[in-house]
Amino acid sequence: MNMGQAPNLVDAFGRTITYLRISVTDRCDFRCTYCMAENMTFLPRRDVLSFEEIETIARAFVKRGVTKIRLTGGEPLVRRDIAKLLDRLGGLRSEGLSELTLTTNGNQLEKHAVSLHEAGVRRINVSLDTLDEDRFRSVTRWGKLENVLSGIRAAAAAGLSVKINTVALRSLNEDELGDMVAWAHGEGHSITFIETMPMGQTDRDRADDYLPLSVVKERLAERFTLSPLVKSTGGPARYFRSEATRGDVGFITPLTYNFCAGCNRVRLTAKGELFMCLGQGDHVDLRALVRQDPAGSLLDAALDEAMRLKPEGHDFTIERGAKNVAVDRHMSVTGG
Ligand code: SAM
Ligand code: SF4
Repeated sequence: MNMGQAPNLVDAFGRTITYLRISVTDRCDFRCTYCMAENMTFLPRRDVLSFEEIETIARAFVKRGVTKIRLTGGEPLVRRDIAKLLDRLGGLRSEGLSELTLTTNGNQLEKHAVSLHEAGVRRINVSLDTLDEDRFRSVTRWGKLENVLSGIRAAAAAGLSVKINTVALRSLNEDELGDMVAWAHGEGHSITFIETMPMGQTDRDRADDYLPLSVVKERLAERFTLSPLVKSTGGPARYFRSEATRGDVGFITPLTYNFCAGCNRVRLTAKGELFMCLGQGDHVDLRALVRQDPAGSLLDAALDEAMRLKPEGHDFTIERGAKNVAVDRHMSVTGG
């Protein structure tokens, strides 16, 4: 039982859900080639959950034992007044929330770093796939590397611990992943590599990008001594320690090593759909319920229904010549 004394959220496979990721917008100031097509249609604003609605839904989860909330997107820092939402959600600490965090592309981090810290955020993930300016522009289509690097410096200066997330891409950064580890550790950050996932149509064939992390890890092991860490965030990453550079390296391997058995999370989209799995379509519509009763009295039963619907896992594959879209939904919708 949790602080709210309501039953915890346990799915049909016995997994307890303690982690909610909230996509606060499907919009973004980048167009990463593996995440989005260049021309995207975004939700009309009326369809997007208000801060009040997000808070009501988040509270319903915290009452049922969720202790960690991550804001994501799209790009969470493009949502207007995002610090106000963080302040509201920060209020849930007295009801059992223990961590409030965020994943960002870092583009607007410099101006938000201090207010994130003031809102009680202590750790953030910053996505960065390359340290080369030209490559950075080609993968993000619209981004400037220097903005992200100054955002990361501002975050560290504001007292935020930063984890770098890097998608391993054969067409982009295969030859610089070791340098990225050295750079991240040199700056005092841990780094986690992620396999590209077949989500939503982009303008590329994912088979051109897909780089198995089993290969990446073997190559990194030629340069760094990587000792397995027992540390578990309850999440999909497996962590290793590089003593020489005094930093951690994580691997998120949805394709080469399925981690669904330990899944502890669900994802709320900007329009209030609760997805139980990144790689499946099962969802419940919480927006309709919170608009029907803004006090949130209808949510509890919907969360129970969600637990019944949570599938055992995803079945991602990426093969040359195949369609390579497991779900017709971009990562920016369900929020990475
Ligand atoms: N805009 C923010 C960012 O980029 O950090 C938050 C949302 S983004 C969808 C969250 C994470 O998902 C990022 O680290 C991004 O690199 C990753 N991502 C996006 N599309 C992906 C895909 N198809 N496969 C694997 N990771 C993906
Ligand atoms: Fe935007 Fe993040 Fe997707 Fe890149 S990965 S397009 S920054 S949502």
